[in-house]
Amino acid sequence: MTETYRLYAIKYGHREATRKEHFLGGDPDGERSMPMDYFVWLAQSDEHTFVIDTGFAKDIGDARGRQQIRQPAECFRLLGVEAADVRDVIITHLHFDHIGTIQDFPNAKIHIQERELQFVTGRAMYTAAKHSFETTEIDRVVTALHEGRVNLIDGAEELAPGLSVHFVGGHTGGTQVVRVHTERGWVVLASDSSHYYENFEAKRPFSIAWDPDRVLAGFKALYALADSEQHIVPGHDPMVLDRYPAPSPDLEGIVVRLDVVPRA
Ligand SMILES: [Zn+2]
Repeated sequence: MTETYRLYAIKYGHREATRKEHFLGGDPDGERSMPMDYFVWLAQSDEHTFVIDTGFAKDIGDARGRQQIRQPAECFRLLGVEAADVRDVIITHLHFDHIGTIQDFPNAKIHIQERELQFVTGRAMYTAAKHSFETTEIDRVVTALHEGRVNLIDGAEELAPGLSVHFVGGHTGGTQVVRVHTERGWVVLASDSSHYYENFEAKRPFSIAWDPDRVLAGFKALYALADSEQHIVPGHDPMVLDRYPAPSPDLEGIVVRLDVVPRA
């Protein structure tokens, strides 16, 4: 039977930025402020707990000018989940701000597209595409693979009833999105297949696009997988915190519930 998940976005980082940084080819109003938030996500049913992405490590964030507000493991603890107990971690792609604290989840199976691992160990890394990866973090995933802790996915896979991952590519060679069955229907975590609402709504790819054509096809996939436009959740948009409610007053500004209908 299809399980129904509680679904949370948890903010762990932030950086100031401008519009020209977020759209392929720049933006006519490029100097205008457009900050970026950094999230990790948690999907929980009565039977399963999935951590979705593990954020960036503090020292890596510091070196790259990104502010870590709280450690990702601490984010999950806010919702009663201990990193060491987690059995399943979905990695949407291997950029430093998504794989950064995987070592805090030593007992988890890592679910990732096989194409993403091939991408970061292939000729794409001759190019500037390598900029957003950290080799020490890629090493950890390769080590986990040799330990038998990596589920390499080819395309789409149902990881549990009511939760599946789907290859879209585009942003990186093997970016995937997560489709989750909730009380309000099928929600899709776009992660970096669309950093902001404006990327998918205006069909304007984010500035980092290994394959822009696939990014555009990915926008279409988001609409096909989600019950409506209101069921698509972008990866880095501060507006996510405005549109969805906190699960409790003490988590205001930190955690939101994505399994409830957003504010208009
Ligand atoms: Zn990202």
